[in-house]
Amino acid sequence: MNQLDLKGRVAAITGGARGIGLAIAERAAASGARVALWDVDLAEAERVAARLGGFAARVDVTDQAAIEAALAATESALGSLDILVANAGITGPNAPVESYPVDAWRQVIEIDLTGVFLCCRAVVPGMRARNYGRIVNIASVAGKEGNPNAAAYSAAKAGVIGLTKSLGKELATTNVRVNCVTPAAAQTDIFKQMTEAQITYMLSKIPANRFAGVEEIAALACWLASEDCSFSTGAVFDVSGGRATY
Ligand code: NAD
Repeated sequence: MNQLDLKGRVAAITGGARGIGLAIAERAAASGARVALWDVDLAEAERVAARLGGFAARVDVTDQAAIEAALAATESALGSLDILVANAGITGPNAPVESYPVDAWRQVIEIDLTGVFLCCRAVVPGMRARNYGRIVNIASVAGKEGNPNAAAYSAAKAGVIGLTKSLGKELATTNVRVNCVTPAAAQTDIFKQMTEAQITYMLSKIPANRFAGVEEIAALACWLASEDCSFSTGAVFDVSGGRATY
């Protein structure tokens, strides 16, 4: 595997303990970055940090104070933050809108959308002051097309796309780039939150007729996190085997 140049860069990856976030952390570390895993699962984040020579912090992305504390701790352990990958997310229930639990709607929006906003909000001042930063938000093809019986997830991911476009424009004259990745389904632990019918539906929508590999998503995310990504901002990048290419 060719590595990207992230030498000396400091990267925080939310939800970096497993799945797509873990693949991004591994690729970033192999490309020379010092990585911080920000996850609610501190024990697993610590195991990953020990293996990759990085740093772990217990962060619930809905908790502004925890994000700010993790940022300060990361910067004192590893140096100023250059890269944020806002990846943590959940799918929520599989339910038609008329019986979609309102509490679950609020929780999914809070983690999958407000969590991304809070992380971006925390890291932008330092990136702006240093005039360097790369923010990569992990959305989903569901945010472009909508998945049935997944109202909150689809709406939250559409929100992440809108947030990314807004911040891209806001920071366009600086050297802070803000982009988002829209993966199609990849077989991770998130599948445990889904029904068989949902998984079958998602596969049926991918023209390539297979799920994404987490390393394929990580390759794109790490390019967007690199200095090479100099003129793309506020942009949405599919890694979807042909799904939602618009
Ligand atoms: P996963 O369930 O395998 O891992 C998610 C990680 O996020 C876990 O380590 C978990 O502890 C952490 N997490 C959950 N809630 C958190 C919170 N409130 N604060 C901090 N950490 C939290 O999921 P994944 O498949 O790796 O998904 C990662 C991202 O990719 C999500 O945003 C997801 O919506 C998106 N995505 C996944 C797929 C897919 O099919 N796997 C497709 C498109 C987009």
